[in-house]
Amino acid sequence: MVIDELFETPELRALMYRVSVEWGLPLDTDGTGTDFLTFLMWTTANWKLVYGGTHSLAKAMTQACYREGVDLIENSLVERVIVEDGRAVGVVARGTEYRANKLVASNADVRQTLLGLVGEEHLSDLWVKRAKAFRYGPSHVLGTPMFCLYEAPDYSSARWDPEINRCFYTAVGYEGPEDMARYIRDAYSGTLPKPAAGVWVNSLWDPAQAPKGRHSATGWYFLPCASELSASEWADVRETFNDRFLDAWQALAPNMTRDNVIAHKLYTPDQMERKVMMREGDFSHGEFVPDQQGVNRPFPEASNYLTEIDGLYLCGPSTFPGGGVHAACGYNAYKKIAADLDLPSPVDNQRSY
Ligand SMILES: Cc1cc2nc3c(=O)[nH]c(=O)nc-3n(C[C@H](O)[C@H](O)[C@H](O)COP(=O)(O)OP(=O)(O)OC[C@H]3O[C@@H](n4cnc5c(N)ncnc54)[C@H](O)[C@@H]3O)c2cc1C
Repeated sequence: MVIDELFETPELRALMYRVSVEWGLPLDTDGTGTDFLTFLMWTTANWKLVYGGTHSLAKAMTQACYREGVDLIENSLVERVIVEDGRAVGVVARGTEYRANKLVASNADVRQTLLGLVGEEHLSDLWVKRAKAFRYGPSHVLGTPMFCLYEAPDYSSARWDPEINRCFYTAVGYEGPEDMARYIRDAYSGTLPKPAAGVWVNSLWDPAQAPKGRHSATGWYFLPCASELSASEWADVRETFNDRFLDAWQALAPNMTRDNVIAHKLYTPDQMERKVMMREGDFSHGEFVPDQQGVNRPFPEASNYLTEIDGLYLCGPSTFPGGGVHAACGYNAYKKIAADLDLPSPVDNQRSY
């Protein structure tokens, strides 16, 4: 594996195993290593934090929509895409029909869109087969802990290099690369892994994320798909997992005691599925494996964002390049729409905000 070939220290190998999986390059996938050397090394050095929290980005986007005269209808479940003569001509939401002049674009995933909203009766056998074969998770299924802290973590190893306390991202709870690989494989095979995480103390960089003198930390646990555990098992994870993780954190940063925690909470994959309709809690709306990546995403016939229903486009993370707060799926979908409908190209039409 390219990571073992290039990195000598176990600590760096363990870190690279983890970020490789986070960025969509599963450990057990064969390849040439090119993605790792180009895409991963670049993204790892380009972490970004949204000032004020990610909701401020969502707010900025809605404000930009309002400025452009867009009507946003919130909290309305779309029940159906209206198809007439093989063409998408609108949607039905909460019993109300909304007609579309030119197109319908869906960022619900490909299965939800085609099988749930369009319906098999409007699709060819091939597209039904392809949509049914599209798989969710276990890649990009996460648990997200939040910790409100009196003090930021103060690691024992800061006596050698104080910069450890100001790392943007810290992997906590792993003994080394083998342990990291076991942790990832446990989560992927449906077993609850031991409590360990990649953590960020966002308040170190953005004071707005905690009251003066206090800190807020968040992180990612890799957890099994939502359907792998029962509702009561997930409730137990929410109840106990953060506490168990604190033991691992305290072993490295002695001030991470329960007394240092003002409040904490954990969001689990079953909640992501219920609240945000991310099937299995998969934030990429579809597993990251070679037959569902790149030109195969979501499947080859749908990889240019247009479906076989005229005027119906996909623009969410089940399309290339997948999940993440990068807007690339929507941007690419718009390029296709612009080309089909002779609209301005996004490149020619860029405004400075
Ligand atoms: C725990 C967690 C942590 C993450 N952390 C990061 C991070 O640090 N950095 C990063 O870049 N990415 C992160 N991500 C990934 C990122 O959040 C997602 O990839 C991103 O939200 C996808 O955006 P989206 O709007 O395309 O899809 P979604 O956020 O999935 O939004 C789709 C929306 O469509 C709605 N919807 C679905 N069906 C219907 C319907 N029939 N009618 C009406 N509405 C419908 C859903 O309710 C949902 O609101 C994280 C994801 C999770 C779950």
